[in-house]
Amino acid sequence: MEADTQAHVAFFLTGRRPSEFLDAVDGLNLRPALFAGYRELAQLRYDFPLMLVADRADNQFVQSLSGLVDAALATAAKGNDGERIRKHALRLEQEIRALVAGGSAGTLSALWDKAAGRLAKGADQTFADSLKRTRAAIKLDGALADCDAALPARLLQHAWTAVQQQKAAAFRKDLDRLVLKLSDILKADFERSEAGRSAKHLKAAVGTGFGAAFDFDAMSNLLAKALPKDEFPESRRKRIRALLEALNTQQFFPAAAAPAKKGGAKAYSFLFERCSDALAAFRERMPKLIELARAIAIAELEIDGQYSEAKHDALFEQFGANGLDPQDLAPFPDYLVCINAGKLQAEEHAQLMEILSSGLPIKVLLQLDDILEESAIGEGNLTSGMRSRQIANMAMGLNEVYVLQSASSNLYRFRERMLRGLTYRGPALFSVYSGAGAQASDLPPYLMSAAAMESRAFPAFAYDPSAGPNWASRFYLEANSQVELDWPVQGFSYEDEQHQRVAEDLAFTLVDFVASDRRYARHLARVPREKWNGSMIPVDESLTRDRKGLPDKVPSLLMVDADNVLQRVIVDERLIREARRCREMWHSLQELGGVHNSHAEKLLAREKKAWEERMRKEAEALAVTAPAPAPASAPATAAAPAAAAAVAEQAPERSPDEAYIETPRCATCNECTNINNKMFVYDGNKQAYIADINAGTYAQLVEAAENCQVAIIHPGKPRNPNEPGLEDLLKRAEAFQ
Ligand code: SF4
Repeated sequence: MEADTQAHVAFFLTGRRPSEFLDAVDGLNLRPALFAGYRELAQLRYDFPLMLVADRADNQFVQSLSGLVDAALATAAKGNDGERIRKHALRLEQEIRALVAGGSAGTLSALWDKAAGRLAKGADQTFADSLKRTRAAIKLDGALADCDAALPARLLQHAWTAVQQQKAAAFRKDLDRLVLKLSDILKADFERSEAGRSAKHLKAAVGTGFGAAFDFDAMSNLLAKALPKDEFPESRRKRIRALLEALNTQQFFPAAAAPAKKGGAKAYSFLFERCSDALAAFRERMPKLIELARAIAIAELEIDGQYSEAKHDALFEQFGANGLDPQDLAPFPDYLVCINAGKLQAEEHAQLMEILSSGLPIKVLLQLDDILEESAIGEGNLTSGMRSRQIANMAMGLNEVYVLQSASSNLYRFRERMLRGLTYRGPALFSVYSGAGAQASDLPPYLMSAAAMESRAFPAFAYDPSAGPNWASRFYLEANSQVELDWPVQGFSYEDEQHQRVAEDLAFTLVDFVASDRRYARHLARVPREKWNGSMIPVDESLTRDRKGLPDKVPSLLMVDADNVLQRVIVDERLIREARRCREMWHSLQELGGVHNSHAEKLLAREKKAWEERMRKEAEALAVTAPAPAPASAPATAAAPAAAAAVAEQAPERSPDEAYIETPRCATCNECTNINNKMFVYDGNKQAYIADINAGTYAQLVEAAENCQVAIIHPGKPRNPNEPGLEDLLKRAEAFQ
């Protein structure tokens, strides 16, 4: 073994760096080679900054600046001026992005004007015209937000506020209706009373304008004779007054318009910074919440004239004695707790667990700023978001918690899933890595968080217990790049010493992510260009090798320095162990997401073997009974392909739009028939076929395809173009066409 290769191997095994062969990477400002093109982030078009749109509880609550500009240009940049308008608008977008990245805050309108002012110097009249026409096509406004430490809480609070406002509006409408109707009942009761029919009351009701025109004493006498004297029992009057008091003094939603009466209690806040505070508030307010829910239920009966003291008094006495179920809690506000994992001490951790396992409508943002901190045992072992993974895994194990894990860079893409979590009836956990805590890296938070997700250190996923009965419908992993691979692969090209363009595919692994952090510089060593040799292999390749004895190859990375000069860096074994661990965790997530699922693959192999056996037997049977002259001595193996061809010939030609099942391969597992036993029916062989395509929805076809253990259901194309969620369903169906 050459001396330099020996030095590489020694570094790989021990982390020691002989200075004559290897250089330290400290101070070289290296970043993964795949990030070479992202040095000037503000000059690139990507999702950030985001615009937070007020009063929207649908997926329009957040918009990306580039998306807004693209949509505006689609209408504004037409005709002969189109190209000029596009160029000017994109220049302005870039300036706004640079302003926000530089710390400027404000609404789109304010920052648009500021950026336009900066660019206007020296620009001609056409520039102002381009901006005016583009701006006119953007109908929305809102605060702009960059991908920084504040983003996770800011975005989630923004969405949560919109959802709560929508809830409050519906609740208030209901409350106002009840108050009005109950007041009317009391009023009608009073009108029938002696006092209500008195001359004094009648006079007051008519007012001073026509007071002289009536004889109120005569009217009072008349009414006393004409109207029935069926006043309420006093108990009903008291009950309605108590209901009105409960409805009018509730503190769960703010008053519709006027602020709370002087001395009246203020509406509760539902936003917390500690799980313990949220839990304490929830428990403390529970009796009031039960009282209000009881008042609403009784009020509805009173208004319908259905309340019977004999029947309902005892019943409502016990109302809420066992707490309220999620359906009863649904109209009330959800709590939101925003906590930072860095401050999560043992006691708070226990409270978080209690929230998640309690089924209460409390949503928790667990923000992680640093997932590369060393584990408590030190020695260069990474936590890699271990704690948050444990919490997220535990929450999914509870089955009834909505769980969303994402890097900040992906939050815009997860906006709909954020809303789903916020409207879910029950606890929700949003575990978000901001990328903003790694002071030991030169990369901005957006790139750090994107790298964490890309390297599988912090994959994005969502678990929605309300989405269906099984993992296939509840678990979503597809937001990650190239989800079927261990590590995503991207093309990378560079110029070599001979100024020739070299292109290769690079996998982005955990080691690329960790190498961006100065704290792990001791696990890396730069190999001088003249020492590059064939003993250096990419990290992903090294991870596929099982080592026996001393290695003859060492894992290496391509990185670029501050001048974008390519450097090759070798990696010690400790980081490779971490990468292996990260890959294993990713494999577990893949299994949950149905990718390379070991149970499915095992079953598939078994079914394939059984099918092949069946085919072989059918072929043999055909060979025996076939009328065509065949030499008696023809080998059985020659008959098999002929039989297979015969079977293939019988298979009908299929249109790609048609839904069908490969019935002969059906394993009779009941998955599809359980979903819809009119659409999916067994034939005489107890194998499924589509009996009536119109007996169910496209969603059921796709769900059945996903659940089919041998993947033989082909959903084709939807028949009803108005079926909800078709876009998503078509994407899911792609894998089975
Ligand atoms: S899900 Fe697939 S294997 Fe199971 S019964 Fe239906 S078609 Fe057959």
